[in-house]
Amino acid sequence: MDNPLFKRLKLCVILVILVLLFSSCAQNQSSVKGIKVVATTTLVGDVVKQVGGDQISLTVLLPVGADPHTYEPRPQDAAAISNAHLIFINGLELEHSLEPILQNNSKSQIIEVSAGVNVLPFSGELPVSSPQNSATADVHALGDPHTWMDPNNVIIWVHNIEKGLSAADPANKDLYAKNAFDYILKLQSLDQWIRSEVSLVPVQNRKLVTDHMTFGYFSKAYGFEQAGLVIASLSSSAAPSAQELASLEKTISDQHITSLFVDSTVNTVMADQISRDTGIKVVKIYSGSLGGPGSGAENYLDFMRVDVTAIVTALK
Ligand SMILES: [Zn+2]
Repeated sequence: MDNPLFKRLKLCVILVILVLLFSSCAQNQSSVKGIKVVATTTLVGDVVKQVGGDQISLTVLLPVGADPHTYEPRPQDAAAISNAHLIFINGLELEHSLEPILQNNSKSQIIEVSAGVNVLPFSGELPVSSPQNSATADVHALGDPHTWMDPNNVIIWVHNIEKGLSAADPANKDLYAKNAFDYILKLQSLDQWIRSEVSLVPVQNRKLVTDHMTFGYFSKAYGFEQAGLVIASLSSSAAPSAQELASLEKTISDQHITSLFVDSTVNTVMADQISRDTGIKVVKIYSGSLGGPGSGAENYLDFMRVDVTAIVTALK
């Protein structure tokens, strides 16, 4: 088949393929659009995504299921931080382990989404014998970092995120404002829903025993008492002493507490032991991270719904 027409046809086909390849490459490049934004935890990441929408290119550092108190940064985290136009962190020492790489690699503004929240002090006893005593003492000084356990605090996050994105990318500020407005309506209706669910729990049952001090803001907003903690700390990175464990088990039996709520990101060895000793039921909840695909807790709104449903079912 050496006919010249066929040769020309072949050339044309090759040219068309080349043009298509080139244009698809160009398209791929332009699809990485918008400002590069980094968020630390999955929770901060989800709320940043709600406000930034498709206008930002978002990298979330912590994988689903990672415990923010004990997270060990990976090499790609430093790269993402140094490429970012804007970095959002929870603040209040939650990301203690990320502080060195944030300081060493960030060329842009770091915004604490919890700035402006009415921070709760930690009212429990600090484990004096804990090897992490100096770290927990820092945390103690700044107050409770688990601000997202009250949706009204997440409304403050949304304002901080909108302000940060609009300053970094003023061309899209109307869009960020609209996204923020829409998401705040959802947070307000979540708050209303939690109030009506909690009303199903008899007042004398509104006592939470958790793995560490995660439900301070939730308890204050919705009238619960943090009756006991497996680790008497704001951070999950310590361990209880035999004495602390014995005193928790006494509280559980004295107050007839039936459920122990344990975060999906922490080891349940201690909770399982308490369960064997006291007959308390271990209930898995989410506090430090969103859930993985299929968990039903893949975004913040659903994460809160799953937790509240678990708490109300266990205590009503
Ligand atoms: Zn925590």
